[in-house]
Amino acid sequence: MTEPAENPHSTDGAPRPQPRIYTRDEHAVSRKFISDAALKVLYRLNKSGFQAYLVGGSVRDLLLGREPKDFDIATDALPEQVRELFRNCRLIGRRFRLAHVQFGQEIIEVATFRAQHDGDAEGAAMTDEGRILRDNVYGSIDDDVWRRDFTVNALYYNIADFSIVDYVGGVEDLRAGRLRLIGDPDKRYREDPVRMLRAIRFATKLGFSLDDATLDAIPRLRQLLEDIAPARLFDEMLKMFHGGMGLQTFEALRHHGLFHCLFPQTDELLDSPEGEFAGALIAAALASTDARISESKPITPAFLLAALLWHVVEEEAASLTANGMPAADALETAADAIVARQVARIAMPRRFTNVTREIWSLQARLQKIATRRVEKATEHPRFRAAYDFLLLREKAGDPVEEAAEFWTRYLSTPEGARQPLVDSQRAADPERAAGDGQRRRRRRRRRKPAAGA
Ligand code: ATP
Ligand code: MG
Repeated sequence: MTEPAENPHSTDGAPRPQPRIYTRDEHAVSRKFISDAALKVLYRLNKSGFQAYLVGGSVRDLLLGREPKDFDIATDALPEQVRELFRNCRLIGRRFRLAHVQFGQEIIEVATFRAQHDGDAEGAAMTDEGRILRDNVYGSIDDDVWRRDFTVNALYYNIADFSIVDYVGGVEDLRAGRLRLIGDPDKRYREDPVRMLRAIRFATKLGFSLDDATLDAIPRLRQLLEDIAPARLFDEMLKMFHGGMGLQTFEALRHHGLFHCLFPQTDELLDSPEGEFAGALIAAALASTDARISESKPITPAFLLAALLWHVVEEEAASLTANGMPAADALETAADAIVARQVARIAMPRRFTNVTREIWSLQARLQKIATRRVEKATEHPRFRAAYDFLLLREKAGDPVEEAAEFWTRYLSTPEGARQPLVDSQRAADPERAAGDGQRRRRRRRRRKPAAGA
């Protein structure tokens, strides 16, 4: 085990830390794999007399031979100085002031070196519990490195000589497949509890193991995530579940007890005897999302939310119908209440939650197969999403095979030839086909859902 990476500035009078420098022939980062836009920004900063480094996920991913998601740059130029150098540049952020340089679709994020602080300095703010509210204290590279989260995220690629600058043993950790927080984990998680979610996300994405101290602090501090702004948790949720490894990330979050702070209602249901079905549906939805991402197909958080909350809504709706409320009203009422509780934790924009609710309310319509209204149902703008959701439910063990099969056959039949299908459905089940039949008593199929299905 390596020594913990500590900020030596915190000890008065300590000498300035010396980084380990990996020269160009000691590492595998090649400019061939850095985007032209990022190179342009790096070179222009450097030519104008500023330091310019690629930093964060891009250096980490390039060293691992992976394609970076985006390119972040660190510099000693102030945000205003960056803006003067680039016409296509906007300054953003309050908590954390940044320059965004835009090239077509691509945005290069340029951050001025920042110093770790205890909240007293100008430009800084911190809560009594030690949570960072504002982080605009500028510094040099050997200040900047200590406020980064993990050692493998704190490697700097210097455009001046193509070397990699490592103050924290990040290269060694990278080679060992180890994710390690810089500094004292308790303090670093308190400063920003979202780092717990990032720890799980990166460990999953990279296939790394969490360093002991980085791991051990999580159960002690996870309830701090309850204070995080709901809007930030929405961003974080998308990174976790729409990053291509959503299913594994979900399982790791559950394993480490972090899922509760994101979806408390779902987490409680998952821990109950009824949780098996909810778990199977969520796993199926995440697996399908991961597959769509790998095929570059479009995805929407509305669909995932539908799966994450479906069984919670169903349970609530069932208790309302048991008290005499008509089924359709019960679903609406339950959806209202459950979504309201959920968005208090994770701020999902209404344009998504509205789609989620349409997917839910279409389920009853698809299950009933009212023959007079079959075509009308297919014209609904959410029909396709609702049908996909029905298939997922079927896969996860909900007793909806018959409806799933009907719609699959219906959709695979050419438009002009569909009528016999509808007629045979009517013959098979005239009462239900009329659309006004009693809702059949629903019984769960007690089969164990396939793992990871
Ligand atoms: P990804 O592949 O998801 O983009 P990333 O490492 O680039 O991973 P970003 O969220 O883009 O992550 O952040 C860029 C860098 O900024 C990180 O590598 C890290 O050095 C630093 N950073 C980001 N968020 C935090 C945080 N909450 N606390 C400390 N440092 C952070
Ligand atoms: Mg990044």
